[in-house]
Amino acid sequence: MTKQTLSFQAEVAQLLHLVTHSLYSNKEIFLRELISNASDACDKLRYEALNSPALLEDAPNLEVRVSVDKTARTLTITDNGIGLSQQEAIDNLGTIAKSGTRDFVSRLSGDQKAQADEQGQLIGQFGVGFYSGFIVADKITVESRRAGLPADQAVRWVSDGGASGGGAFEVENITRAARGTSVTLHLREDAQDYLSAWKLKGIINKYSDHISLPILMQKEEWKEGEEGKGGEMVTTDEWETVNQASALWTRPKKDITPEHYAEFYKQISHDHEAPLAYTHNRVEGSTEYTQLLYIPSKAPLDLFNRDKAAGIKLYVKRVFIMDDAEALMPVYLRFVKGVVDSSDLPLNVSRELLQESRDVRAIREGCTKRVLSMLEDLAKNNRPADDASEEDKAGAGKYDKFYAEFGAVLKEGLGEDFANRERLAKLLRYASTSSDTASVSLADYKARMKEGQEAIYYITADTLAGAKNSPQLEVFKKKGIEVLLMTDRVDEWALSHLHEFDGTPLQSVARGAVDLGKLQDDAEKKAFEEASEVFKPVLAKLKDALKDKAEDVRVTSRLVDSPACLVVQEHGMSTQLARMLRQAGQ
Ligand code: ADP
Ligand code: MG
Repeated sequence: MTKQTLSFQAEVAQLLHLVTHSLYSNKEIFLRELISNASDACDKLRYEALNSPALLEDAPNLEVRVSVDKTARTLTITDNGIGLSQQEAIDNLGTIAKSGTRDFVSRLSGDQKAQADEQGQLIGQFGVGFYSGFIVADKITVESRRAGLPADQAVRWVSDGGASGGGAFEVENITRAARGTSVTLHLREDAQDYLSAWKLKGIINKYSDHISLPILMQKEEWKEGEEGKGGEMVTTDEWETVNQASALWTRPKKDITPEHYAEFYKQISHDHEAPLAYTHNRVEGSTEYTQLLYIPSKAPLDLFNRDKAAGIKLYVKRVFIMDDAEALMPVYLRFVKGVVDSSDLPLNVSRELLQESRDVRAIREGCTKRVLSMLEDLAKNNRPADDASEEDKAGAGKYDKFYAEFGAVLKEGLGEDFANRERLAKLLRYASTSSDTASVSLADYKARMKEGQEAIYYITADTLAGAKNSPQLEVFKKKGIEVLLMTDRVDEWALSHLHEFDGTPLQSVARGAVDLGKLQDDAEKKAFEEASEVFKPVLAKLKDALKDKAEDVRVTSRLVDSPACLVVQEHGMSTQLARMLRQAGQ
């Protein structure tokens, strides 16, 4: 085939612009991105080779090589993984497949007001993958042969990342004996220091130490100049492994530093911020597995998409099996990232098989419990006592942070995970008439209940102000009774699955005839009964006048200042839920 020139998808062009204009403060991450792609490519080959061993050809040892050419001023990352066919190169290197990334990029670049370094931070958090090569390169050449294709069906892909104004890349057919991919960066004038092997090794140690494949570089030697004058480092033909090359989760905990854990998290999650918390355990018993689970610091943009990819990678005896193994974590914990390595599942396990496996069920239960205990620890150390250990003090505010990002999703668990409902209920936090922030637990509330109070009262609304100013709160204010203020869209639904907490019923103040029970004194009860009598004829007329609009009209003791308010029947659909369904187009 002759050379073809193709255009980048519009979002790629935007991303490239952002990458080259706003990521210069953290240039070195490009190497992590490219090594992580090389590692993914090897994982994919290893997995495909389980069913087709011939794909491994005569090179079964998967590895990544990093080399420099000081004369040509290029840096090359080579892997012998799955490779790319011509069409795959066009599809995968010319478009952004992940819809989340795509939306994110178009939003970012759409906002002209945003500062470049702000964008840099944002985009740094998000991960830019392959295109990060353009931070240091003004031209990238990719040469690749997909495993299983003949040598003469390899591909060369070249682009200047839109510097020429065209926003285009070229592909052509080449012959390449070796399977896999090499990515060659033609380094920019201001990025020549990436020709230094010493510098590259430092970056690999920092970001890619935990990659389970060997990363090889050529050894360097000091060569004296003529007659002892000067001298220089020269590369030799000998290759050495420059990383630990063992899967991080298989190493003993005591050998792993928090930095290692954080770097590993960044690689598997494509997040650029350190995780909020993690847990690493080897579980023994009838089902044996290792779990390394992380809670991110920030929620992704598509958090509320319940169909979004799950965050768990499944390995069987260190062999990568699949990403997004949704069977390993309940949907309401979809924000958890991590690795599960099982020794019991078969290597050729499929998604369908996973759904039915008893071992998988045991793993999911085990992982769920682990995450809940991790959250309980965060909650416990959120407000450390004065005499708490330094370690516990370091946890201050972490649960608040978690809750602000993921609390709404956690609530889905009330309707989804009956077995853990009580544990989940303890993890809930709400704003209330005595706290503007979502910091009141149901246990806190109970501890503050008034003498004679028999229910936990709550109100749902779209906003905190709306909830606070609701006329339905008047009598509670007057009597000094705390009411929880709920403003998440999911609250109404979630609470329909939680009728009581620790023996105390939860009651909406916007439902039916709120029964204040013992909180009402005899005089108040009497006044109410008298008013009901007196107003009977008025109510009958009102009821008739409103007969298509209101189910019932009655005298209430819940108002103090307002003349009237709307309420929902005891078992009717709440106004909040009705609004939510309307929004959803039902
Ligand atoms: P991501 O790794 O998150 O999928 P990238 O932008 O890093 O996104 O890479 C885009 C795609 O390009 C990858 O999904 C993969 O299909 C392909 N790709 C990149 N590098 C390689 C490689 N070394 N070998 C094979 N495919 C690759
Ligand atoms: Mg990548």
